Amino acid sequence: MGILGVIKKINRQNRTFVPVLQTDLILSEGEATPKQNIRACTLAQLEAILAEWQEPRFRAKQIWEWMWVKAVTDFDAMSNLSKALRTRLKDQFDLYPLFENKTQHSNDGTIKTQWLTHDGYKIESVLIPVPADERYTVCVSTQVGCSLTCKFCATGRMGRKRNLQGSEIFDQVVLVDRQARESFGHGITNVVYMGMGEPLLNYAQTMKSIEFLTAPAPMGLGMAARRITVSTAGISKMIRQLADDGFRSNLALSLHAADDAKRNEIMPINAHNSLEALMEALEYFYQKTGGRISYEYIAFQDYNDSIADAKRLVQLCRRQFPVRVNIIEYNPIDGSPFTKSGEQQLMAFGKYLTDHGVTVTVRRSRGKDIDAACGQLANK
Ligand code: SF4
Repeated sequence: MGILGVIKKINRQNRTFVPVLQTDLILSEGEATPKQNIRACTLAQLEAILAEWQEPRFRAKQIWEWMWVKAVTDFDAMSNLSKALRTRLKDQFDLYPLFENKTQHSNDGTIKTQWLTHDGYKIESVLIPVPADERYTVCVSTQVGCSLTCKFCATGRMGRKRNLQGSEIFDQVVLVDRQARESFGHGITNVVYMGMGEPLLNYAQTMKSIEFLTAPAPMGLGMAARRITVSTAGISKMIRQLADDGFRSNLALSLHAADDAKRNEIMPINAHNSLEALMEALEYFYQKTGGRISYEYIAFQDYNDSIADAKRLVQLCRRQFPVRVNIIEYNPIDGSPFTKSGEQQLMAFGKYLTDHGVTVTVRRSRGKDIDAACGQLANK
């Protein structure tokens, strides 16, 4: 049964409802009958619905453009549709947009925004402007909270509340793009999936959001796939899945320790995804996609920032794929057992890597004063 069948079933029975597209249904609190998320429809499904309503086929593309390029939050904004059609859409569907709840501006230009989902959850996105390089990056969330409990991360302490819909991930980019244009006169140039949640544990919706970001207009935003980076705590099976699915964007592994003993301590996911398993998965990924791979490495004082740690990291950079390392300055969260590495130690660590042929960038934290830095997103 397709979406039409689902809709008929709701209307007929109006009491019990067994969704066919489980992951694409969103229930609105207090609603007697749940409305289907129209942005869960494929174009073909939308065309079928409009055919049944005896609307011309091109209407589907018009609606699609309103949803995925203009990203309107209300059917009434779809000004080239008849009033009757807008009303019919409104009666049966919802767009389930995000609503701005709170926006904070850092002294360094970083902007953190907290969004409210239709069911009352709060998620966060961060705009990181680098005007000198004309780079405006948005860091997006993929889940409400996270189940992975990395020891240094505030989001991990929340637990996972739910996965975000592809449309909710996509909306963060569109909304922050508007913010960037208003604040800096420049749209978003890069998207990183490094906010709240583990993208590869919300695989289908993460991929769906990327599909809409990269599809050429009027089917999507037309963003280059190489401007997008998905970051994972390291789920080897899903890295292989990305390779099999022909993933065209960049992949970042949140490494943070170059041996299993330390990584097990700070990232429990490592217990079932050892470094060797991850390296093999990354080799597979590179062989199949040729995609860019980076390691994210937060430097914790006297934990993973010694020269012995750097040596182990060099070994991990000598596998059968090119990789660059981003060393990230740590932003302590309340109750964290870690502090950030001292400047000298950080420099010595970075120098050891460069001296051994590793491409390294040291990333200074952005938005620390508004808890927008790496690992700090947690709806304070
Ligand atoms: S670092 Fe990422 S994967 Fe780990 S708990 Fe935080 S959000 Fe989850």
